[in-house]
Amino acid sequence: MSWDCVVVGAGPAGLSAAFYLARAGWKTLVLESGRVGGRAAGLGRITNHPAFPEGVDGAELTRRLARQARRHGAKFAVRAVEALEAAPGGLRVVLADGTLRARAAVVATGTDFLPLGLPFEERFRGRGLANAPFADAARWRGRSVAVVGGGETAAHQAVRLADAGARVRLFLRGPALKVVAPLARAVSRHRAVALHVRTEVTGLLGESRLRAVTLKGPSGERREDVDALFVLVGQRPRLPRFDLGTPGVYVAGDAAGAPRQTSVASGSGVARAMDAAAFLGRL
Ligand SMILES: Cc1cc2nc3c(=O)[nH]c(=O)nc-3n(C[C@H](O)[C@H](O)[C@H](O)COP(=O)(O)OP(=O)(O)OC[C@H]3O[C@@H](n4cnc5c(N)ncnc54)[C@H](O)[C@@H]3O)c2cc1C
Repeated sequence: MSWDCVVVGAGPAGLSAAFYLARAGWKTLVLESGRVGGRAAGLGRITNHPAFPEGVDGAELTRRLARQARRHGAKFAVRAVEALEAAPGGLRVVLADGTLRARAAVVATGTDFLPLGLPFEERFRGRGLANAPFADAARWRGRSVAVVGGGETAAHQAVRLADAGARVRLFLRGPALKVVAPLARAVSRHRAVALHVRTEVTGLLGESRLRAVTLKGPSGERREDVDALFVLVGQRPRLPRFDLGTPGVYVAGDAAGAPRQTSVASGSGVARAMDAAAFLGRL
């Protein structure tokens, strides 16, 4: 089957791109390896998306985006894209179980969270250690958890867990959080969040699940027990294989390194869809 454009990833960037392309009359297929809505669908209430003065649930926002794309004729399939290859007449879209043809592509595949790079991190992932935020913060009510990282995602997660009733330690290597002022205030005012600056996680301890961490801080080395550790020390683009500069391939949203916000991702999806539409129009 041949498409005018494939959109890889169905988060806010991909869904917005699909809507624009389909509305412009291009035969558009969205390929999503997980759930339609992407990371945004699991965020809970988003309070900083323009046009929603009372905030909007991430799942609701992305449902609307998907409905808008479908309404204009975009089709969806649950598939992971492994690679995009230049081929005669356009692109070969490589899936685990076959290939598709398209003339252009918008890649909106988001990011992966970076690991700490410590021994046993793989072993403990899902067993007391998460390299991504959990949607169900309420699960940690009454428990003693730790978050590693000094950016917006780590700070948000710490506040979210504390709001849900967890006791939270936030460990960061630097001297201060690198976040917007209201978030820094929310962290410092929350009685359930203890901020540990200049503190590095140096080891992960446990048998079948993570039980404790070793830390290096201003007062030397120590060990602390944890019920869970959330590692939010950075993100990197999660891209299928393709050669940069392949004609007709455009990268949108978090995967393109845009500031990580749902509204920015949507706008970036729209912009790259317009680039793809212009490319298709020139063929
Ligand atoms: C803890 C946390 C809190 C946040 N809070 C806010 C907030 O309050 N306000 C805000 O505006 N933003 C917030 N964000 C950021 C927001 O979630 C992202 O900016 C937004 O989701 C990016 O959209 P995207 O479409 O680029 O990528 P994503 O939403 O990550 O979607 C990418 C999609 O691509 C799919 N995919 C990946 N690889 C492939 C492949 N090879 N083949 C097919 N599909 C693939 C994935 O399954 C996913 O569905 C937060 C993020 C985090 C982590």
